[in-house]
Amino acid sequence: MSATAEDGTAEDGTSRRALRGPVVRDALVVLVLTCALAAASGAVDLPARVAAWSAATGLPLDQAVLVLAGAHVPMMWFGARRGQQLRDEGDARAEAEARLREDARRDRLTGVASHPAFVAAVGAAHADGTVPPGPAVVLLDVDRFGEVNATLGHEVGDGLLVALAQRLSGLVPAGALLARTGADAFGVLLTGPDAAEAGPLAERIARATRRPLRVGDLCLAVDVSVGVAELPGRDAQDTLNRAEVARTAAESSSGGLCRYSPAIDTFDPGRLALHDDLRRAVRERTLAVHYQPKARLGDGRVTGVEALVRWDHPEHGLLLPGRFLPLAEQTSLVRPLTEVVLERALTDCRRWRDSGLALSVAVNLSPRLLQDADLPGRVAGLLSATGVDPADLELEITETAVLEDADRASLVLAHLRALGVRLSVDDFGTGHASLTHLARLPVTDLKVDRSFVTAMGDNPVDAAIVRSIVELAGSLGLGVVAEGVEDEAAWEGLRAMGCRLAQGFWIARPVPADDVPGVVRDVEHRIRQRTAAAGPRSLVG
Ligand code: C2E
Ligand code: CA
Ligand code: CA
Repeated sequence: MSATAEDGTAEDGTSRRALRGPVVRDALVVLVLTCALAAASGAVDLPARVAAWSAATGLPLDQAVLVLAGAHVPMMWFGARRGQQLRDEGDARAEAEARLREDARRDRLTGVASHPAFVAAVGAAHADGTVPPGPAVVLLDVDRFGEVNATLGHEVGDGLLVALAQRLSGLVPAGALLARTGADAFGVLLTGPDAAEAGPLAERIARATRRPLRVGDLCLAVDVSVGVAELPGRDAQDTLNRAEVARTAAESSSGGLCRYSPAIDTFDPGRLALHDDLRRAVRERTLAVHYQPKARLGDGRVTGVEALVRWDHPEHGLLLPGRFLPLAEQTSLVRPLTEVVLERALTDCRRWRDSGLALSVAVNLSPRLLQDADLPGRVAGLLSATGVDPADLELEITETAVLEDADRASLVLAHLRALGVRLSVDDFGTGHASLTHLARLPVTDLKVDRSFVTAMGDNPVDAAIVRSIVELAGSLGLGVVAEGVEDEAAWEGLRAMGCRLAQGFWIARPVPADDVPGVVRDVEHRIRQRTAAAGPRSLVG
């Protein structure tokens, strides 16, 4: 960095300042002694005294003066020695100061630049940020580094940071500044033409840090979140903030990398706070799950429920998924969130069964989860932990989820299906899945999107769509559930079409687990009474 010239001058200045004190002190002593001597010689008539002393001792006067002058030699020697001492002191002090300054500039453990040096360099880059595209910043952070320290010890933790710093040094261009910006955090400043490479560099860093790091005999895999501000902000602090916003978002994204964009910005403090709250709610498992019954159109029996996540927010009250799911879906929070719901749903399902209520439970899967090859294993683990029969679990996926990365998704679906879990296509009719494609997937049920069902009464086209979906499902050997049954007419219409199951506010609204047995009783009682009143002719299905 360009600080060396400034440092040289600063160094001289400091040593000169350091020397000035003792020199002034010594000069004052000499001045006082000289004054005292002059005063004394005036008072006691020094030349007469010397002459008297020469006569008394028989020493010739010129020799007496020589002796007196010779007495100055030790004084000169003393003065020279003292001067050397002061110079040595000054040098040692300057050296210590230089070392301190170097320590402040370098991180002692990893040898890369320190945090203050990084901040200063980002500031300097903005001060002369005339070269487009302007400075760019990449920040990265080791997730759960504390766990490494806690489980493997600080030495391994330190080794990990050194290994990481080495790997990063091999990635950043020669002109870039790599710094350790926190206990487990690093930053890269790119200036001039290098700045245009910030995005690709961040990608390389995210990829390279996925490979395990060797620390002694250990091979450690770490999760690293990388955020990049490819363009400078209003000032140095703003650029650093942008990179940090991106890095925080990366923490919960699947690839561990996020580029700054205004869309993910924290300038909406409510959104950021909500994200933090949600992360906590997921971690502390304080999310709630409500259940909405599905009833058989033939006899009104409630055969299962759909698990719907709810969040009882301390300030905002009970939030529906529409308010917070998109937030979770943009980040990797959706995976732990789904696991919380899945575990809760299976536990509740088991509890109902133990109390004599046999219900299947359906859990919604976000599209991203279908790209997660570990999902079937985790589902199998939860099934065996809760002792729920796989046939009692249904996983709901959307058409788009299957279309996104069809090959990977069908592999995950095949594994899930092999467990004996039912798979249904949610919101059917709204996506673009081709029927031939659907037929090849191992799905067991279709859920007709509620927009068609609610509109059925007023719109013959919607009624025709529902009818054809019901028929299609039948010919493909799939079960069919109509969602959004809001009135008796819809219930009746679906019955007449030969639809098997229905779900909707008219049957029951989603309720907490403890209310499920009571609601199931009420629903069955109400529908049975209704069908009995309507007579045997309406018992279709
Ligand atoms: P969905 O899977 O289509 O779930 C049914 C939604 O329709 C629920 O909304 C339910 O309350 C609502 N609903 C039920 N009957 C009626 C009706 O008769 N009329 C109308 N207008 N609406 C009805 P909710 O609970 O707000 O959930 C919205 C969406 O959030 C769900 O749509 C589902 O896609 C998603 N979701 C809910 N829980 C989870 C979850 O645990 N994980 C994931 N990934 N998504 C979830
Ligand atoms: Ca659903
Ligand atoms: Ca649905």
